[in-house]
Amino acid sequence: MLAEEVAEYAKKKGAELVGFADSREALKYFRKSWARSAVVLGISIRHPLLATGVRYPSWDEPRQFIDVIMDAIALSVEEFLRERGHLAMAIGASNRSVDLRRLVVASGLGVEGRNRLIVTPEFGPRVRFSAVVTDAEFAASRRELQNLCRGCRICMDACPSGALNGGLNIRACERYNQELEKDSGLLVKKCTLCTDVCPVGRRWE
Ligand code: SF4
Ligand code: SF4
Repeated sequence: MLAEEVAEYAKKKGAELVGFADSREALKYFRKSWARSAVVLGISIRHPLLATGVRYPSWDEPRQFIDVIMDAIALSVEEFLRERGHLAMAIGASNRSVDLRRLVVASGLGVEGRNRLIVTPEFGPRVRFSAVVTDAEFAASRRELQNLCRGCRICMDACPSGALNGGLNIRACERYNQELEKDSGLLVKKCTLCTDVCPVGRRWE
């Protein structure tokens, strides 16, 4: 089956998570008349700083590197589908024109946690995604993930800006990050505490 071939190929190219979102979801979020489904791809942020207890580990640079890898995997999958006669369009990890998060949820790879990040069983929120929209009709992959976010509030308690009290206060988060940038001079740092502290998917650390 094509879905299995695609998943196997994507994993060979380095994807650690592969899921499929069905036509309804793909059309809803991508608004492409030919789109019938999407392949969703993920890899974890295995940066050593995340496991050292450093208070503000800046994985912004490695994250950018990871995004380049994610985009390359998506382009490979796009080519794989095109070679088999399908329309396909890679959606990069940093693409802001589409709601990749909703697509990830639709593919059953993760759910939105209280930290407002996508949390996966395998890696918690320490993961990045890309996708490939296609006219191939893949059935949605689904998993029972409703209780994956344990509601433990560890992320909320760890947030130094109070941005996670009742949803996400983006302004408070951004303000705090701007302060961090000022404090760190040329070395730009990002707060990643809500990513770091989540206990879900920590078994690999
Ligand atoms: S990045 Fe930092 S400041 Fe922003 S929500 Fe997460 S823990 Fe809070
Ligand atoms: S730290 Fe706890 S409440 Fe926050 S996202 Fe993870 S499991 Fe959910």
